[in-house]
Amino acid sequence: MVTLTVDEHYCKGCGLCIVACPKEILQFARHLNEQGYHPVTCLDQEACTGCTLCYVTCPDGAITIVKDK
Ligand code: SF4
Ligand code: SF4
Repeated sequence: MVTLTVDEHYCKGCGLCIVACPKEILQFARHLNEQGYHPVTCLDQEACTGCTLCYVTCPDGAITIVKDK
């Protein structure tokens, strides 16, 4: 089980993680964060493989991935 979290406070909506995700499960949310950006959200947590490509791509450390054993 993989749990992916995006800290909306740090997301600047650059979209790099969306491009990086091979499963194409990251997308911009419709709402704006407090900085005026559309933060990224995960559309399908169960499809996430925990590959960490989004995590290593994010320049702002906004993504956290937790893998349960
Ligand atoms: S960990 Fe991999 S599969 Fe999961 S959202 Fe990030 S890039 Fe996509
Ligand atoms: S790479 Fe980071 S800052 Fe850019 S959209 Fe994704 S979570 Fe937000």
